Amino acid sequence: MREKLKTFFSSKRLLGATLKEDLFKKLIFTFFIATVVYIPISIIVDRNLAAIIVQIILIIFYSALYVLQKKIKSITGQQILYIAFCIIQNSILFPLSYLLGGGIDSGFPIIFIAGGLTTILLLDNIVLLFVILINTISFACAYLIEWFRPDIVYSFTTMGTNTYLDIGFSSIFAGIGIGFFLRILAKNFDENQEKAKELLEQIEDASTKDPLTGAYNRRYLIDYIEKCITQIESDEIKAFSILMFDLDHFKKINDTYGHLAGDDCIKNLTYILKNSLRKVDVVARYGGEEFICVLPSAEDTPAFRRAEQIRATIENTQLSEKIKKTITVSGGVAMYKPGMTVDQLIEEADANLYIAKEKGRNQIVWHNGGIPPLCYVAYDPDNLKPVQNYGRRFSDMTKI
Ligand code: GH3
Ligand code: MG
Ligand code: MG
Repeated sequence: MREKLKTFFSSKRLLGATLKEDLFKKLIFTFFIATVVYIPISIIVDRNLAAIIVQIILIIFYSALYVLQKKIKSITGQQILYIAFCIIQNSILFPLSYLLGGGIDSGFPIIFIAGGLTTILLLDNIVLLFVILINTISFACAYLIEWFRPDIVYSFTTMGTNTYLDIGFSSIFAGIGIGFFLRILAKNFDENQEKAKELLEQIEDASTKDPLTGAYNRRYLIDYIEKCITQIESDEIKAFSILMFDLDHFKKINDTYGHLAGDDCIKNLTYILKNSLRKVDVVARYGGEEFICVLPSAEDTPAFRRAEQIRATIENTQLSEKIKKTITVSGGVAMYKPGMTVDQLIEEADANLYIAKEKGRNQIVWHNGGIPPLCYVAYDPDNLKPVQNYGRRFSDMTKI
């Protein structure tokens, strides 16, 4: 039994807890104002003292609820408050107001509609069904009393004069109440949409990106290369290439300047890679200080030139404030050829990177160390003009 009760209270709610709290405050506020305004109207339309006393009780009831809802912090406590509110208001005070106010002719049926709506909005599941049942029985009793003993009901008030005023005011308050509710719903919907979007982005980032650099992780990289292979097979793109980079003598840099300075270098390397490539290109952290970039629609020559440009930029950039020494990078290029697997493509880039290291580092290698294409390096640090050279080795140029 206790377990069952627990699930009643903690079960999934139709509206979120915060939204309900907000709604509850606005509901009791609206009912409070409506009742305050109704007292002079009741006097004008000559309703009897008993009807006015019920309305005063309602005002005290709403004020008490206002104080209580401020004090009660727990969700279970709030749920109990909503249940008490729905039962006391809808099953006791509203039917009394109805009967003493002159029954159906008084315009009071609107309070039954408001009562029903309040119950549906604030409660859920079995509790909701239970309270609706109690409310319905008590509404039905009020109607039955009016049906069988209209003389009692009509004796409370001067009939015929108050109907329009009652219905008019009830409609205005019902309108304001529904307006409040729709506003809260719309606001909450927008907020939830935003939160869901942010959360989804965070989850996506966490599962596809590397936390240190914000570059894509290995899993995303493999998926992306596979996607490129599918696109080639379906003729969506004609070619694609990958670039593999590895910082030179990085162990020594870590040992000399510390790991934090090393981290700065890795972060700035990522920044340079991202900024040197197109939006469609993917930059992924393959290992510690090894990165692979995927360049869709790029054949090996433009891929090589891009890699060379990146190499030159890194050579001319201070990657960490703490490190004054020039840091360089080596790279290997590989273009996809039909029938290749992801592993074979990465292996080719890795083999070229290995040759670049063997040949003295700070250079880009393609086709197993084959003659590189003519490269236009982004800028020359001495005169800041684009220069035609291949890396720093003009001797290679003469061969082309
Ligand atoms: P080589 O020129 O042959 O590449 O020499 P290397 O010293 O760079 O050799 P290697 O690539 O094997 O060294 C990788 C080093 O990168 C080892 C490790 O200390 C460092 N490293 C890996 N991940 C991180 C990281 O997240 N932060 C920092 N600061 N260092 C890292
Ligand atoms: Mg290295
Ligand atoms: Mg390495």
